[in-house]
Amino acid sequence: MESGVEPVTSSTSAGNGSATGATSDGAISTIPPTHDTKAELHLRLLAVGIPVVVCKPHRHRDGCKPECQQELSPPSGWSRITAKQARAGIAAYRPGTDTLAMVGGHGIDVLDIDAKAGGDLAMVPEALQHWGRTRTPSGGWHVPVPSTGYGKGDLFIEGVYQGDYVGGTALGGARLLCFLPGSTRPKYPGGGYVEERPWDVPALVTTEPPALLLDLCRASNLSMTSGPAKPAASARQVFDFVARHTPADPYDQAAARCGYGHTALTRMIDEVCQVVAGDQHRGRHVWAVRSVMRVTELIAAGCLTSQALALIERNFAAVKPGSDHEMSELQKYAVANVTPKTRCEVHGG
Ligand SMILES: [Zn+2]
Ligand SMILES: [Zn+2]
Repeated sequence: MESGVEPVTSSTSAGNGSATGATSDGAISTIPPTHDTKAELHLRLLAVGIPVVVCKPHRHRDGCKPECQQELSPPSGWSRITAKQARAGIAAYRPGTDTLAMVGGHGIDVLDIDAKAGGDLAMVPEALQHWGRTRTPSGGWHVPVPSTGYGKGDLFIEGVYQGDYVGGTALGGARLLCFLPGSTRPKYPGGGYVEERPWDVPALVTTEPPALLLDLCRASNLSMTSGPAKPAASARQVFDFVARHTPADPYDQAAARCGYGHTALTRMIDEVCQVVAGDQHRGRHVWAVRSVMRVTELIAAGCLTSQALALIERNFAAVKPGSDHEMSELQKYAVANVTPKTRCEVHGG
């Protein structure tokens, strides 16, 4: 798809022109794209590049505690698996024995409403239910929503516990699995997952998370880092952070203070082209979350200056006009929650 959007760069090294729209783990290929809602859900997910893994019935081993209650064993490394690896692994699926699970945070997150724990579908705003709904064998529901960049955690609606938020941070942490139709759960013999309202996978991955959903995540105190969430900083605190990391020389416009910072920043700006070239709408919010969090980490570490934050802001505005509020909320969150983090030789000590 032609985007016509030029990246905003501070240097000539981040060229635009080679973006192909391929995802980071290679082009979406082996399974033909299917928007046919009659195809099985796990195939529709894999077709758009969302990892689905095969969980085997858990067998107790020496390492298990006597009170081990584990029911299923997901493949090792499931939280870091790419869609390409997942497509290769799906061949091992044995219907009737194994359990299929989608990895959260790759474009689709799930509100896992746990009826056993008091969760109630009626509490979920109707506006968040139109992308689909699965009935679970324990009498609960899975409600798919566009990925927000928030990690897994307890989901509260109007202060009442509803179940799990199945998400994943934009930097790849705090993921959770969501079981899919076609799955067998040893705990619930005879019961299955039923796609009551078919998941609109193409819409889910091309829709930005609505403000209502982001508010719900914030109210549940979900985190965009792997640690617990701290309340967002004030506008004043963001201003002070920016001032503290702005070069003293007014003519110094450098965004990076070292090669490590420069490379990291260039890569993030390059990604904008891919986000946009791949699809007009897919992944802009999560790109912004990832970039703001990472840039803030690197500014705090000394690898980047505040100019880098301004660059991310300008690029986001270019691909998502009218996103100023979203960006300032992200910055407030990042300034409060991020700690210095770098592998740079100069600033890493
Ligand atoms: Zn066990
Ligand atoms: Zn550095």
